[in-house]
Amino acid sequence: MKKWIIWLGGILVLALILSLGILMGDRSPQDRRVRFSLVEVHISQDQLKILSQAGFALECSFYEKKGEELTFRIPMSTREFQVLKEKNISYQVLEEDIAKSYEIPKESTSWWTTSVKETKQSEDAPEEPSGPVKTMSLGSFGGFYTMNEFHQTLDDLYERYHDKNIITKRKSIGQSFEGREIYMVKISDNVEVDEREEEPGVLYTAMHHGQEVSGMMTVVYFMHYLLENYEDPRVQDIIHNRQLYFIPMINTDGFAYNEKYFPQGGGMWRKNRNGEGVDLNRNYGPEDYWDSENQGSSDYPWAQNYRGKKPFSEPETQALRNFLQKKKIHTAFNYHAYSNLYIYPHGFENVPAHPLYLEMAEKMSASNGYRTGTPGDLLYPVRGYSDDYFFAQDKEKDPIFAITPEVGTYYDNFWPRSDRIFPLAQDNLESNLLLAEYAAKVAQTPLAQETTEEAKAREETSEEASEEASEEISSGEKTEQ
Ligand SMILES: [Zn+2]
Repeated sequence: MKKWIIWLGGILVLALILSLGILMGDRSPQDRRVRFSLVEVHISQDQLKILSQAGFALECSFYEKKGEELTFRIPMSTREFQVLKEKNISYQVLEEDIAKSYEIPKESTSWWTTSVKETKQSEDAPEEPSGPVKTMSLGSFGGFYTMNEFHQTLDDLYERYHDKNIITKRKSIGQSFEGREIYMVKISDNVEVDEREEEPGVLYTAMHHGQEVSGMMTVVYFMHYLLENYEDPRVQDIIHNRQLYFIPMINTDGFAYNEKYFPQGGGMWRKNRNGEGVDLNRNYGPEDYWDSENQGSSDYPWAQNYRGKKPFSEPETQALRNFLQKKKIHTAFNYHAYSNLYIYPHGFENVPAHPLYLEMAEKMSASNGYRTGTPGDLLYPVRGYSDDYFFAQDKEKDPIFAITPEVGTYYDNFWPRSDRIFPLAQDNLESNLLLAEYAAKVAQTPLAQETTEEAKAREETSEEASEEASEEISSGEKTEQ
C-alpha cells in the first residue's frame, strides 16, 4: 500500500515538473524565430505609394529605377505576403528563407548565396584590418561582434587609452524595452568634463534597426581610428576641440534577437521587441512630424515601419531624447544600412533641406560617391524619423545637423561578407572626420529655424535658377535617382 502511494506521489511530482517545463518552454508568439524571405517586386510610382502606406519599409533596402518601373528586393515576413496579394501586386521569391542561406554550403547557386555569402566566412577574410586602423579585430558573428564582444571591445578601448584621459567607460543612457542597457562612450580631451559651451558636440549612432550591423562596425572602427591616430594633427585637433559621443547600438533588443535566433548571421529583425515590434526610426516626435499627412510610417503593428502608439512611446527613443536634452550636439550621423546614401531632413513633408546640409553632404559624397537627398528626393517621404527630430527637436534649442548614412551596396546588404566590414568602414572615414569638423561651422553660424514657407521659397528660387541653367545646356543628360 505504502509503495503504491510513493509511486503515485512520484508520478504526480514528475507530471508537475514536466508541465512546468512545458510552460517555461512555451514562449510567447513574438519570442520565436520569424522567417524572412527575400522578395522582388516590380512596381509603378503609384504602387510605391500603396506599398509605403501599407507599411513596407523600403528605405533601407534595394531599389532600382528603369523608366517608370521600380524594382525592389525586400526581406518580407509571411504577413507581408498577404498584403501583396490583397493589393494585387505580383512578386517573385528570390530566397525562401534568407537566414537559411547563411547555413548552407557555398556551392548553392541561389542568388543570395552566390552574390553575398560566397566568401562570407572565407579563410581569405582579413584577420587584421589593413589601412589606417591596426588593432581592431573582427567578431565571431559572421565577422560582426556579438553583444558580448561589442561590450568587450568598448572596454578594451577604455583600458588601452584611458591613461591619456581621452575616452570614458561605456555608460548607459537608458534601457531597452527588454531591459538591456544602451551604451554611450565619449571621446575628447578632459573627457570627464562637460565642456558644452566651449567645444562643439558631435554624435555618432548606429542600429536604430536590429539587422543593420555594418553601421555598428563602422562607428566602432572610427573610434579605433581616432584613438590609434591621436598623434595625427587632424585627429588631435578634433579630439582637443570637439566632444565626440558614440552610441553604436541603439536597438539592443532587435540585435539580441537576431543573435539568438540567427547565430550564423542573416537575421532580419528590424524593429524593437515591444509586442510585434516598433520601428524606432518612425517613433520620434514632435507629434506633427510623427503624424504628418504624408504617411511614410504605418499604424499596423505587424508592419516593418510601425510607428508605435504615440511619439516617443518606446524606451529606446526616450533614451535618445533624454540624452540630446542633456548634451549640446551640433552634428550627428545616424548610421543605417544599406544603399550608399546620405539622407537628410526633411522627411515629414517635402520641404527642402537647409543649404548647409547640401554643402556637408556634397563634401562627404565627394569622398565615397554616396548619393544625397531628402527622403522625398531619394524615394518617398518618411515621418517620425530621427533626423527631423534632431534638426527641429526643440524650437528653443539650436538644431542638430543630423544625416543618415546608408552603408553598403545591394551586394553587401544587411550582413556583408566579413571581408567587406573594414572596407565599408573605411568608405566612411573621411565623412566621419568631416562631420566632426563641420560641428564648429554649425556652432558658429546663427541658425534660426527656417520656416516651411521660407524653405519652399528658397527651393522655388533655386529651381528657377537651375531651369534657366539647364536650358542653356542643351545636351541635358539626366542622372537617374
Ligand atoms: Zn535602417
